[in-house]
Amino acid sequence: VAGLISPWNLPLYLLTWKIAPAIACGNTVVAKPSEMTSVTAWMMCKLLEKAGVPPGVVNVVFGTGAKAGEALVCHPDVPLISFTGSTLTAQRITERSAPHCKRLSLELGGKNPAIIFDDADLSQCIPTTVRSSFANQGEICLCTSRIFVQRGIYSEFLKRFVAEAKKWKTGNPSDPTVDVGALISKEHLEKVRNYVKKAQAEGARVLCGEGVDPLALPPGNQKGYFMLPTVIAEVKDESCCMQEEIFGPVTCVVAFDTEEEVIQRANGVKYGLAATVWSSNVGRVHRVAHRLQSGLVWTNCWLVRDLNLPFGGMKASGIGREGAKDSYEFFTEVKTITIKH
Ligand code: NAD
Repeated sequence: VAGLISPWNLPLYLLTWKIAPAIACGNTVVAKPSEMTSVTAWMMCKLLEKAGVPPGVVNVVFGTGAKAGEALVCHPDVPLISFTGSTLTAQRITERSAPHCKRLSLELGGKNPAIIFDDADLSQCIPTTVRSSFANQGEICLCTSRIFVQRGIYSEFLKRFVAEAKKWKTGNPSDPTVDVGALISKEHLEKVRNYVKKAQAEGARVLCGEGVDPLALPPGNQKGYFMLPTVIAEVKDESCCMQEEIFGPVTCVVAFDTEEEVIQRANGVKYGLAATVWSSNVGRVHRVAHRLQSGLVWTNCWLVRDLNLPFGGMKASGIGREGAKDSYEFFTEVKTITIKH
């Protein structure tokens, strides 16, 4: 029996991404989706039933992390837990599961850098970096939120990046012209807004978005938890906005001078999930990609994914990898049988 615990962002994708390899390897599963997105999981249950999945193979328990999640983590008959969510929850799961010596796969948060050298193709880099910062309201663990730009192109980059970010429309996501929908909850919106306030209090400049531009919402959405894509400049590396996962439509842009310096600064956080590197110098792209403490590096692109490739983070971004071969290893046991004949 595999215990699968998933978060609220990308709720169908992250749940099925665990269920599929688990049952393909012959396990049954007890899945605990996020309490914030129970309806998606419930709809998936209906589809599994319709598709003829035998009873008892995929079991879904609905409830909070503290109750349903911990019950699964502490259950003696669930020997492995595949968890995607925050680093804080992962620490708790590690502690609670330790007495049972459970096998854990932990896919956690990130504070992902985008590194943009002065020889980057900005016509490709700018729209992609706007997307990597603000897609799904910035509520993707792989979103970039620290953008390091080489000093020679810093001013031009900022100008063009902010102009591109301002083109993104915030509103009802069922409107096909809208790019940014509402954040998951009122509490989360407050948390994200507070980061912007903290940055301002520290002397950083908010170039667009929160508190700077008017947010025009359709009449039916006025009370929703919306926020404009927000770009902050002149943030110090030690600021909480550069160190902590904000998980909203907020990105910080800072300047750097040398390759060596930017590698140090990009690695100077507790996380190590994903990074992007932008340069037309192939040698540099390889050098930097190899030295980044990051489970995934995209060069001159973002979120180009083959689900068979290993996926996962270093440092506080997780333990283990998921993806075809890696998931197979996680969801199966190797046994050595020696036969004397
Ligand atoms: P969360 O850690 O609050 O919750 C994740 C899941 O864990 C939920 O189902 C929750 O109910 C459950 N949970 C909470 N406390 C628990 C406990 N004590 N025992 C067992 N289960 C418990 O995370 P979230 O806010 O739902 O999701 C956002 C976080 O997920 C962000 O940090 C984001 O970076 C991360 N994330 C990581 C990846 C990745 O692949 N690395 C992908 C998506 C999201």
